[in-house]
Amino acid sequence: MRFASLGSGSRGNATIVDVGSTRLLIDCGFSIKETEKRLERLGTQPSDLNAILVTHEHGDHIRGVLPLARKYGLTVYMTAGTHRALSFSLFSGIDLKLIDSHLDFVIGDFAVTPVAVPHDAREPVQYVVRGGDNLSLGVLTDLGSITAHVIEHFEGCHGLFLECNHDAAMLANGTYPPSLKKRIAGDWGHLNNRQSLDLLQNIQTCQLQQLVLGHISEQNNSLAAVQAMMSNLPSDLFSIHYACQNDGVDWLALSRV
Ligand SMILES: [Zn+2]
Ligand SMILES: [Zn+2]
Repeated sequence: MRFASLGSGSRGNATIVDVGSTRLLIDCGFSIKETEKRLERLGTQPSDLNAILVTHEHGDHIRGVLPLARKYGLTVYMTAGTHRALSFSLFSGIDLKLIDSHLDFVIGDFAVTPVAVPHDAREPVQYVVRGGDNLSLGVLTDLGSITAHVIEHFEGCHGLFLECNHDAAMLANGTYPPSLKKRIAGDWGHLNNRQSLDLLQNIQTCQLQQLVLGHISEQNNSLAAVQAMMSNLPSDLFSIHYACQNDGVDWLALSRV
């Protein structure tokens, strides 16, 4: 199994993962043109995708999903709540599959587990995908707090894409209006660097091979702040990568050791 990020942050997110003959995109917050360009950078193209998994209806995750799916005939998976949050007219010509946020499903060579998360959207989920070789990738962004449900499902992943949205002090001292600060820092907003570290210190990571930290705010965080926080992690057990808005992260392989 291998995965890559097309880019991550408040201006667009998309993660690609493949195993065997199945290739999935998780979210697509970029325009068709931008997505095509970013996929080309990774040596692939939209027609190679089997489906798009959607986490929630915020623009930085959904902007390109329906246009891309329509153009290339891709199946789109989302919760009923995410579907309800969007205008029905957007779905004409789309092969849509509504999912239960607590039930696993299969796409080609992947078993997909949606995981409900606390975030200020209609019915947001994040995903753990597992290949036939039993390797698993967890994608966990856009949540304001860590729940027992989240810990249970993201424990033991071989690859993990995790949000480090903001530095708590930078957000508090920054220029955002108080209502927006409250939203971002709240239990239904986004994880700060400390919360992400706490999660990593509270889940079992002995199988973890590749950790990617993403959805890093350009206003309320910095690579240096994320790196300083993560220096509390053991440095020799897994590789740490940082997915930024423009460049994302190149393909990372997960393997049976
Ligand atoms: Zn987001
Ligand atoms: Zn969001």
